Amino acid sequence: MRKKVVIANWKMNYDFYETTSFIRNFLKFIFEKKINHNKEIIIAPSFPFLHISNQISQGTNLNIAAQNIHQKEKGSYTGEISASMLKSIGIQKVILGHSERREFFFEKNNILLEKIKIALKYGLNIIFCIGESSFERSNDQQFEIVKDQLRKTVFCCTPDEIKYFYIAYEPIWAIGTGKTATFEQAQTMHEFIRSLFLERYGKNISNEISILYGGSINDFNAKDLFYQKDIDGGLVGHSSMELKKFLRIVQS
Ligand code: PGA
Repeated sequence: MRKKVVIANWKMNYDFYETTSFIRNFLKFIFEKKINHNKEIIIAPSFPFLHISNQISQGTNLNIAAQNIHQKEKGSYTGEISASMLKSIGIQKVILGHSERREFFFEKNNILLEKIKIALKYGLNIIFCIGESSFERSNDQQFEIVKDQLRKTVFCCTPDEIKYFYIAYEPIWAIGTGKTATFEQAQTMHEFIRSLFLERYGKNISNEISILYGGSINDFNAKDLFYQKDIDGGLVGHSSMELKKFLRIVQS
């Protein structure tokens, strides 16, 4: 059975108080009200609050992820955060390749591959995002784009390293736009991505890898999306910032 996963990506939102109170309330709901769910739950707050978030969620099955790392191990890179720093405060997971990082911080596939390698060196799990723009989809290039993104990054890893990955298919046109991919569009792409894993790594890995959908998931569309056979959960932005909505998504 593949792992079902829901990840909250809070991006550059929430201060100390908002972060800690959300996590405390979330855990209270999950444990005290015994909310039923069968998913791995991960929250990705901003860097300054990773440590406290990790402390609050110790001993629960909530995991905390970082939203980025620098590609170098250490050195004169003012303002940057390294994989080893995350590791030293007990963080086990990191999001890489998000389209906002690709677009606003010019992270190309070669840089992402360096980030992957350094994350793996420190044993971090990687939530790796791929996806096409609306222009690329309107030209019917979505499959080619996603294949190329994988080929230049994730597919440079060994089968043993692939066990550290979650893949998030996030069509750029659906991120933060309220325009979700239909569940047919998402399922078709997820099936395609899984077939690429089959081709590159064989049956076991392609069956086991969790492929999440991201892009305007909300508490109404989550169920239909998560019901698809190749969609193993979601990476959620806006709708993860409202406790009730996020809880409903986790239960979907
Ligand atoms: P969204 O963001 O749910 O607000 O579309 C998803 C993401 O950026 O990961």
